[in-house]
Amino acid sequence: MSETFDADVIIAGAGIAGATLALALKESGLEPVLIDPVVFEAQLAPTFDGRSSAIAYAAFRQWRALGLAPLLEPHAERIEHILVTDGRAPGPLAAGPSPFFLRFDSAEIADRSDGEPLGYMLENRRIRSGLAEAVEAAGIRVLAPARVASAAFDARSATVVLADGRTLRAPLAVGAEGRDSVIREAAGIGAQGWTYRQTAVVATVRLARPHGGVAHEFFLPAGPFAILPLTEQRASLVWTESDARAAALKGARPEVFHAHLQRRIGAHLGQATVEGPVFTYPLSLQLAQRLAGPRVALLGDAAHGVHPIAGQGLNLGLKGAAALAETLVDAARLGEDIGAATTLERYAAWRRFDTATLSAGMDAFVRLFSNDNPLLRLARGAGMAAVNRIGPARRFFMQEAGGAVGDLPRLLRGELL
Ligand SMILES: Cc1cc2nc3c(=O)[nH]c(=O)nc-3n(C[C@H](O)[C@H](O)[C@H](O)COP(=O)(O)OP(=O)(O)OC[C@H]3O[C@@H](n4cnc5c(N)ncnc54)[C@H](O)[C@@H]3O)c2cc1C
Repeated sequence: MSETFDADVIIAGAGIAGATLALALKESGLEPVLIDPVVFEAQLAPTFDGRSSAIAYAAFRQWRALGLAPLLEPHAERIEHILVTDGRAPGPLAAGPSPFFLRFDSAEIADRSDGEPLGYMLENRRIRSGLAEAVEAAGIRVLAPARVASAAFDARSATVVLADGRTLRAPLAVGAEGRDSVIREAAGIGAQGWTYRQTAVVATVRLARPHGGVAHEFFLPAGPFAILPLTEQRASLVWTESDARAAALKGARPEVFHAHLQRRIGAHLGQATVEGPVFTYPLSLQLAQRLAGPRVALLGDAAHGVHPIAGQGLNLGLKGAAALAETLVDAARLGEDIGAATTLERYAAWRRFDTATLSAGMDAFVRLFSNDNPLLRLARGAGMAAVNRIGPARRFFMQEAGGAVGDLPRLLRGELL
């Protein structure tokens, strides 16, 4: 690359998607620079991000390929079973759960998944901490605290201006800075979407009884309520409510919150003790109109923010990181311009269909399940019971959730670039 460039790829946002892309590029000889307003140490604070993520096994394979296994595996809980119930509530609040349920077991796809679980549950803080350590060990340049304020794109380069006045130039800038992407806006790429008028209340709890690697998802009228297994006999709760009710829950005194929670969880998991703060995340759909343009590519939530109903948002971003890294590394090896529109169109074409179908699917899912209409309840119950009875259908859903279907980038197959 020309010596007037500051890096091969400027990555705005050192979140999970941006940092994974940086590691994949660096490993293959490209020079990325990461920019983030939050220094890595601050991202590890218990108050920074209360979420945990269900990571598809194919996405986890990418981290293994990049050498992150020793940093992440100690904090990763295997999801061996997923139990989906269309009931009014799991706990004593229930007027009796509906008889319809779906059950997924990792053992059913063990022959095709090399004994992988259905996914891994990890706290976002732990993922960020592992990525930060790997980024540092790889010698990747990180500008933090620093915020991208604007960007401009011409025929030969992307120029990124930081809020402190510094300027960086590279053949390509990647917007991985979440939903309010400055890079996306500067590139003139619009976004469309809507709010679900739902907020996710998120808390980590310690359980009195072992969870057995079971992830529960209860579809309730206000939205899904998930109990997701974590290491050390803990669980991550994602409790979807109307915006007003979620605000009341977040503001409730700890004993009041605990009482609501216990009535929700019911008897089957025993006592649950909240650890750390309660977080709230307003839920919306936001899709960029394009994934790339000349000298610019979008990644992660900057490209697609979806409802967490099936835990697919970050997994989409990790698939995108693998596809973008492979596209850029292959182009560089052929002596092509990595920021050229033709190169980036390959990335966009690769990810467009999966992104659009998954986002539309999640949106339809939210509308179908966050609803108490008796006819819809009957239809979805019958659908779930049918899928549960048909082995191939169940295995299809499990492999979809594992992220190991379609035209997989090499990193998601566990291979290096
Ligand atoms: C309640 C909830 C539960 C979820 N559970 C799951 C799950 O189980 N599985 C799953 O796959 N997904 C899940 N998701 C979705 C997932 O959390 C997001 O898709 C993921 O965090 C997006 O990662 P990202 O790196 O693209 O963006 P972000 O996490 O938003 O990171 C963006 C980074 O950019 C930085 N930044 C911001 N502005 C600038 C700027 N101007 N310049 C430079 N840097 C900037 C930020 O500081 C941040 O570090 C869930 C979401 C919610 C709300």
